[in-house]
This record gives sequence, structure tokens and C-alpha cells, in this order.
Amino acid sequence: MASNGYRNGTGTNKGAIKPPASSNIRSSSFKSRLPPSSNHSTGSALRRTSSASFTTAAGGDGVPGRVRVAVRLRPRNAEESTADADFADCVELQPELKRLKLRKNNWESETYEFDEVLTEFASQKRVYEVVAKPVVESVLDGYNGTVMAYGQTGTGKTFTLGRLGEEDTSARGIMVRSMEEILANVTPETDSISVSYLQLYMETIQDLLDPANDNISIVEDPRTGDVSLPGATHVEIKDEPSFLELLRLGEAHRIAANTKLNTESSRSHAILMVHVKRSVLGEEVAIPSESDKSSHFVKPPKPLVRKSKLVLVDLAGSERVQKSGSEGHMLEEAKSINLSLSALGKCINALAENSAHVPIRDSKLTRLLRDSFGGTARTSLIVTIGPSPRHRGETASTILFGQRAMKVENMLRIKEEFDYKSLARRLEIQLDKLIAENERQQKAFDDEVERINLEAQNRVSEVERNFTDALEKERLKCQMEYMESVKKLEEKMIENQRKHQHDGFMKDKCNWEGPGFSEDIAEVKKLLEKEIHMRKEAEKEVNKLKSQLGQHMDAGAGGDAEILKLQIALEDEVHQKKKLEEEIIILRSQMLQLTFEADQMRRCLARGGSGNAYPGLDSPMSQVRDSLSGHKTPVSALFDQVGVQKILDLLESEDANVRIHAVKVVANLAAEEANQERIVEAGGLTSLLMLLRSYEDETVRRVAAGAIANLAMNEANQELIMVQGGISLLSTTASDAEDPQTLRMVAGAIANLCGNDKLQATLRSEGGIKALLGMVRCRHPDVLSQVARGIANFAKCESRASTNGIRSGRSLLIDEGALPWIVQNANNDAAPIRRHIELALCHLAQHEANAKDMINGGALWELVRITRDCSREDIRSLARRTLNSSLLFRSEMRRLRIEL
Ligand code: ADP
Ligand code: MG
Repeated sequence: MASNGYRNGTGTNKGAIKPPASSNIRSSSFKSRLPPSSNHSTGSALRRTSSASFTTAAGGDGVPGRVRVAVRLRPRNAEESTADADFADCVELQPELKRLKLRKNNWESETYEFDEVLTEFASQKRVYEVVAKPVVESVLDGYNGTVMAYGQTGTGKTFTLGRLGEEDTSARGIMVRSMEEILANVTPETDSISVSYLQLYMETIQDLLDPANDNISIVEDPRTGDVSLPGATHVEIKDEPSFLELLRLGEAHRIAANTKLNTESSRSHAILMVHVKRSVLGEEVAIPSESDKSSHFVKPPKPLVRKSKLVLVDLAGSERVQKSGSEGHMLEEAKSINLSLSALGKCINALAENSAHVPIRDSKLTRLLRDSFGGTARTSLIVTIGPSPRHRGETASTILFGQRAMKVENMLRIKEEFDYKSLARRLEIQLDKLIAENERQQKAFDDEVERINLEAQNRVSEVERNFTDALEKERLKCQMEYMESVKKLEEKMIENQRKHQHDGFMKDKCNWEGPGFSEDIAEVKKLLEKEIHMRKEAEKEVNKLKSQLGQHMDAGAGGDAEILKLQIALEDEVHQKKKLEEEIIILRSQMLQLTFEADQMRRCLARGGSGNAYPGLDSPMSQVRDSLSGHKTPVSALFDQVGVQKILDLLESEDANVRIHAVKVVANLAAEEANQERIVEAGGLTSLLMLLRSYEDETVRRVAAGAIANLAMNEANQELIMVQGGISLLSTTASDAEDPQTLRMVAGAIANLCGNDKLQATLRSEGGIKALLGMVRCRHPDVLSQVARGIANFAKCESRASTNGIRSGRSLLIDEGALPWIVQNANNDAAPIRRHIELALCHLAQHEANAKDMINGGALWELVRITRDCSREDIRSLARRTLNSSLLFRSEMRRLRIEL
């Protein structure tokens, strides 16, 4: 392919070739001056700049490449055809060898080799393909690219670069064809193209898209060396017609500007800048996560924006370099008209010779093109020449310019930026997805819980029903049998009685009827015996019935056993139901914890800051903000669902893991003011204190202390804590614990209590102040800051009480030996500690009873320092006022000759 041939530079020698007959000193000396890199670039290095290596060079150190130079010969024009009819052209082209022979005279010529030699018959399409297409392709790959046309006026620079080809599309020049290629290769939804069109004349840059803008300045990024023109108009290009319209407009403005300046376009440089911004996806990035739960987290590919710039330069006519000044131009014009062009020549010479100094800053053109020549762009130069022997000198100088440019080495560098915006967008979408998934899972979970509940209820009621039915049946059966037995017995009894009565009557009758008495007696005896027998029989029968009854009773007892069995089954069911309910609560509280963490993470992302396990203690503002926003956080919503009591019950669970889990949930809930009242009402404070008392695990203790610290922000809770023995409990924890985070929580809790006027005495008597001061053994600044806050709170309450006449005498803080630590830390490097202590000192100093101790303890010096150095004006003046209002301080200051 033509473009590949050009890119890979199949020629072996990029310098001038010595003509066989006469040795050309200049060209041979050029050859010898080739820099080493330039020499080897003809072989392997050239292959490195093929399109494959362009695309794989992303983010690397850059790819070296040489400026590619093509020469194009214009056909003879009408005038030349007649005027030079008898003369041969001053050049002879050998395109297949990529060589050009410049005739010296009829028998001598010099041969030069270029990257491409384009004859007068070369089509615009071929010119584009060999000169510009590789550059445009690399611009699409994210590199900067430059195409320049250099040559004498009238040799076809504008023809090559700027023709619009409106009637005949085959005549379109490099500008239109480049844009066509770019538009065909970008994705309109994600990529953007914008264009600036400028003219550089007499070291002034004019905006061809906005003629009023006639002095644009060049801005160079000192870090990257990137050159930009922030003042220039940038027009977004969506399609080819709009680009053609823009070129037409630019050309019209160029003509108008040149008319106004009384000049012609050949004296100015026209510069078209095409800015291409493309979105590309880089490698996938792992999103750091706090736990391995995120294993299902999809890692989005790294989004990148590649910004590149294509610069197309139609240079001023090269004859100006020599001729300016000599043709009667105004002095000013002569000096600066082609300052830029000659500076370009000087820079190319310096670069070609690998000279240490390249005079880039000498002109606007070279500053603009600093990253095109010897910079970090892919650059093509097309030198245009005419055939006329009359202009042999101009043609020779143009050719030499091209030859020198061939030795200039560039470093290609891709420009990629990390697209944070689109990453943030992706993460937001991801977060949304996760939240939706979370909600979906929760719903499924709730449904499952409901289903299990229903099933358990159904089973329980079925068992109950069966049991009642069976019991009723059994009862009825027993009753019937019993009644039947009783009936039978009664019948038997009645029959017996009847028989008995009849026998008695017969006996009486005998007694009253006289002579056969002994016979009667025997008869009666017989009857009696019979009677006895029958009685015995009846008794037997009764016994039998009795035993039957007993049996029936036993049968009843069997029914009881059945009932017992059923009862056990029922209890079992109830127990299982209770266990299921407990599992539900644990799962819900786990869900609560997870949602809380997700919530935290989301806030953290929104804030762009770092997470905090106990937001309540350190960021009351975040609470305020959340509660002000009026939305329930997912945590609170879940909290409502599960119910505070159930969560608190878990604090007493037999399972240690459940307890730890539950205390974390309670602490997180306690961090939100809205939940505190409910927690306390449901006995949460008592449970938390209990956990602190039955210290079993550092985590439990730390988290419980954190929750108590949060609850202790509320005045009513502070008194409750005192009533429930919380102060001595916190004091014990303060002296036992070693973990700085636990100490920080405990110190925070005590510091909150110190701010309550009613608790002052108890705090002292139950060891609260001692405990607070004792915690300074842990030098962690967070702990020290809480201690300092507690001291300031306490001193403030005391000074309030003294002012109101409620208390007198020395401060309890001084009694407890706090003064040395206070004085030592009054100038602590950590601002929060210093601030609390400064306030504490001012409060202590307000009460005359403290003055003597303060003077002896060195606190006066600190107070004086505060009046001078403290960064807060209100504290400075408070200290000054306090010192001035104390007799003792005043006299001591007089003695020490201190003036405020
Ligand atoms: P320049 O911009 O270098 O001053 P132009 O591009 O204006 O030169 O060309 C001068 C004239 O020569 C124009 O009329 C142009 O149409 C003509 N011309 C230039 N190059 C060619 C070419 N390769 N084939 C035909 N005509 C050309
Ligand atoms: Mg021109």
C-alpha cells in the first residue's frame, strides 16, 4: 500500500545521494552530518513507527520517529508552457526510486532522495494517502500530528492542502480529506471534534473564525510543554458540510484581513487545528473494598479520554525568507514578515544537526509548532516546487529545506487522561444497582420470613385443633361409658332391694300365723342363706362394676398421656417458632449492619472523604445534615421494622457473636439523634452499661462505650447515666482499658458529662475527673483532645456556678491535680487540644480563688501568651478581660512588669 510504503521508508538513504559524476560537497556533508539515530532509523527504527507500533505505544515513553518529507512538483502553468517552451524543467523526477534530480546545467545534476516523490501527475488522493493519511491515523490513535506545506509562492501549497473540491470531489485537498477520515472513524456519542482556524502574520495570530479576535496569545504548559491557544474560537464539527462551510468562512475572513492589512495571503501562514477527543476503555481496575463481601462487585474498565491534535499548516511563500527587505518592503515588515519562517528554518537546522540549542522561542510559528518538530508529534512535510528553470534557486533552497527536515527526529507520545467523571458515573450506576439488589434481597427475605411465620402458625393451629378434637372425643366416650355403668348398677340395686323387701314380708307373715313355726324358721333360714348368697352375688357384681369403672378411669388416664404427648409437641412447636423468630431478628440486624455500612460508604463517596466507624462522636454535623434532609436512612427504616426491643434483647443473647453484632447495631443506631430516645426508653442505656460492667471482650467494650458516648450528648441521658452508676463504671473502664479507641470513647462520654452543671459533684466523688486525667497516659491525640474538652466543659460549669454564687472555693480540677497537665498542654501542637485548654484556662482564671494556684503553677504565663498569640480574637480578648479583672493577677503582672 502506498501509505505503508511511505511510512516504512523503503529507501536506504535519506540524505542526498552523491551524483556519480561530480561530487556535491553540500549533499555529502549532509550525509556525514546525519545523527546516529537518524541513520539507524532508516532500518529497524522506521519499522517501529508503523501503524501497529503507533497503537501499542499508549501510555509508554513514546515512539521515536523521523519527520517524513515528500516533494511535489506542480505542472507547468500556461505562462511557463509558453515562456519556458525551449527549456527543460529544472528538475527530473524518479518516483519509483523516490529520487529527484536537480539540474545544475545541461550535463550536471544533484540527486536527492525523499520519503516520497510526487510528480506533476500525482492525484490529490494519492498525495493525501502518502502524506497525510498516516498522520491522521495516528491522530485517531491519540497522538498529535502535523502536516505542513513548504514552498515558493505559486508552487501549489494551498492547492495541496486547502482545496475544497466543491465541483469536483477528486480535487479535494488534505484539509477536507483529513476531516472526512476523522469523521468516518469517530463515534459521535462519545467522541468530539473541534476546529480552530488561524492566520499568523507579522508575529500576530488572528482568528480566521472571528476576525475581531486579532491578537491571540500562545500558552505553553510548563509541565507538559503542550502548546494551546485558549483565546481562539473552537467550533465543534459534526459533519463534512459544516466543516466546508467553516473553511469557506475562514478563507473569506483571510481575504478580508489581508485586504485590510494591504498584504497578500502568500505572506501569511494559515493554520488549521483539529482537536480530537476520544473515549477509550482501558484495562479493568479493581475497586478497593473493605471486605471480601465485594467479591461479586463488577470491576468496571478504566475509562480514558484520549486528546489529540492535528495541525495543518499552509506556510507563507518560502521566497520571502530571502526576498523580504530586498524588494522595498517597509522596514518593520521586512524584519518580521517572515521571522517565523526563517526561525522555522533555523530550528530545523539545529534539530537536524542535533544541536544543543534549538531556537524555538524565536518566533510565534516555532513556538506553535514546538511539539511538531522535534517534539512529541508525528509530522509530515510536503515541499512543493515548480518546474521552471527560472526559479531554480528557489527550488534548490526548498529541496534543501526538505532534506534537512528529514533528519529531524520526533518522539511520539500518546495523551491519555483518566476520565474521573465517567468513572464516578459508572460507580454511581453500580451503587444504584447494588442498592436495588439489596432491596430486592430484603424483600425476598421478608417474604420468606412471612411464609415461615404463616407455616408455623398453620402448623400450631392444626396441632391445637387436632388436640382439642381428640380430647373432646375422649371425654365424651368416657362420660358415656361411665353413665352406662352407673345406670346398670342402679338397675341392679333396685332389683336387689325389691327382692329383699319381698323376703322380709314373708317372714313377718310366718311369725303371726302360729303352729308351723320351726318349719318357717328353717324356711326363713334358707331364704336368709339365699339372701346372703344373692347379696354376695350383688356385692360381687358391684365389685366387678367398680373394677370396670376403674378400668374406664384408667382408659381416661390413657387419654391424658395422649394429651401430654400432644402438649409436648405443642411446646416443641412453640420453641421452634421462638427460635425462628430469634434467627429472623439476627438476620435482620445483620442486614441492618450491612445497610448501615452501605449507607456509610455512600455518604463517604458523596463526601469524597474517608469513612468513620462511629460517625456520631466525631461528626455531629453529618447527623444534623441527615436529619435535616428529612429522609429516613435505610438504617432507621430497618430499625423501625425490627424494633428496638428485639435488638436490645440480642445484647443478652447467649451467643457471643450475636452479642458483638447487636452492640454494633445499637452503637450505630445511637449515633443518630433520632433513635436515641427510643433506645433509652427501651432500656438500651441500662443494657449498654451492663455490657461495660460485665466486660468480656475489648470490641464489645469499645463499641458499648462509643454508644454510651453518643447517648451522653443528651442532657436527660447524662443524668440517667449518673443515676445508673455510669460514672464509676466509665471511670473503672478508663483505668482498665489500653486500647486508644476505647479510651477515646470513654473520654468522650466523660467529657460530655463534664458539661452538665448537675453532675459536677458526682463526677468528682465517683472518680470521673481522676479517670479523665488518668487517660492522658495514652498519648493518642484523639484521646487527649477529648480529655481537654472534658476539662474545658468542667471548668466552664464551675465558673458559671461561681458567677451565680452557687459555689465558692478552689476549682475541683485544681484539687484533683489537673493544673500541671493543663499548663503543659496549653500550647499543644494539635489545634483542638490547644483550643479546649485555652478556654479551660480562661474559665479557671475567672474565679479569684484559683488565682494563687494558677500563678504558682505557671498558668499566668500561658494566659499572657494567649492574649498575644491565640489565633482566635474572642479567646484573646476573653483572656485579656479575665486577667485585667483579677486583683491577684494584676498585682503579679505589675510585679513581673508584664503589660497586656
Ligand atoms: P501556493 O499556495 O503555493 O502559493 P497555489 O496552491 O495557490 O500555490 O497554486 C498556484 C497555482 O497553481 C494555482 O492556480 C493552482 O491551481 C495551480 N496548481 C498548483 N499545484 C497544482 C497541481 N499539482 N496541479 C495543477 N495545478 C496546480
Ligand atoms: Mg497559497
